[in-house]
Amino acid sequence: MKIYNSLTDKLEEFKTLKPGEVTMYVCGPTVYNYVHIGNMRPVLTFDMVSNYFKYLGYNVRYASNFTDINPKIITAAKELGITEREVADKFIKAYLDDLQSYNCNEITYRPKVIDNLDAIYDFITKLIEKDYAYVVDGDVYFRVTKIKNYGILSNQNIEELESGARVEVDEKKEDPLDFALWRKTTEGEQFSSPWGLGIPGWHTECVVMINNLFGSKIDIHGGGVDLKFPHHENEIAQSMALNNNTIANYWMHNGHINIDGTKMSKSLNNFVLAKDFIKMHNPNEVKLALFKTHYRLPFNISEDLFKEAKILNDKIFNALKQANLYLKLNNEPTGILQKDPNINAIMDEDFNTPNLITYLTDLIKELNIKIRNKDKISSTYDKITLINNILGLKYDLYTITDEDLSLYNKWLEYKENKNFEEADKIRHNLESKGVL
Ligand SMILES: [Zn+2]
Repeated sequence: MKIYNSLTDKLEEFKTLKPGEVTMYVCGPTVYNYVHIGNMRPVLTFDMVSNYFKYLGYNVRYASNFTDINPKIITAAKELGITEREVADKFIKAYLDDLQSYNCNEITYRPKVIDNLDAIYDFITKLIEKDYAYVVDGDVYFRVTKIKNYGILSNQNIEELESGARVEVDEKKEDPLDFALWRKTTEGEQFSSPWGLGIPGWHTECVVMINNLFGSKIDIHGGGVDLKFPHHENEIAQSMALNNNTIANYWMHNGHINIDGTKMSKSLNNFVLAKDFIKMHNPNEVKLALFKTHYRLPFNISEDLFKEAKILNDKIFNALKQANLYLKLNNEPTGILQKDPNINAIMDEDFNTPNLITYLTDLIKELNIKIRNKDKISSTYDKITLINNILGLKYDLYTITDEDLSLYNKWLEYKENKNFEEADKIRHNLESKGVL
């Protein structure tokens, strides 16, 4: 299969480090408040990516972290009048609840910074020993100019970056591009490091966690496109310094989210919290709407798109419900088909979910036609199930019992004998159960 690699800006053939296994890491949330719908895009995207690798037969080892030590958490703790740990725990729980309400699958690891402090001390110590980092007054900074290919991911060179206004000037740093690996803190939560009391820098934790869980290199590092610079660039710089590699063979970035054509952001105050959004939309509708846009492109939230997604979701649900009864009536087994070459052809092109949804729509039509023609439906049904699993669509279908079937047959009998009163009673019963 082919994946668009942000590191090389090319569509590349995907080869894993280890046969049969995919290792991937996606930067997780800083747990100081509720996440908004923009934060959910990488979550849903890489859930789909992981599902597709599982469909291909890979063992997927997937990690996403919690940034549970951060200046924003210290500020939130002051505002809420609780401790930093209480802030972190509260919003970790809220995040996990969000994932559940969006029907996301479990992942392999969810490491926290607080559990990795010793590894972070070791990592920074090694960088200092190798002269890639220096200590100034209780802070530790990374020496960016020592990394020759710095800017490789975001396609910028050091000279451009040096003159750019995006870099803050800090008198403590040797160079404006240098970034903090460790920061001295005078208020809030402080941890006792070899360099004094403070908190670790955000760019370090991800590299340390990856090295801890997987070793020096993984297959895929993912995240939102806004993390490319400086966060991911700085992760790469540290990995170049200690491991002489770019951490991941493939870097994948999802596009941002627009609301009615305007970029969603905190400063514009046009963001929607994930927990509020899901109250208005069923998770299947969110995914059908989201995956109609390729993951690398900006996603525009509009009312029309969600109307369309709702119509499609209802169509899928009704077709599956009908099929559920039809399969039972005809005693047709399902779950036999494990692969569909059409799915592979579509998804092997850098996870082309818009085309997969078109294919799903065609299969739903095919299913309805086959039921009408009284044909066998299991292969079409299985293909739909495979796609639903990849996109993370879940449909609660009622399990039809033998008793329901005999009731159904009675209903048909009453109808044929034009005993509509009795037929209606049974129909109501079957409808309330979800058989019809
Ligand atoms: Zn990260």
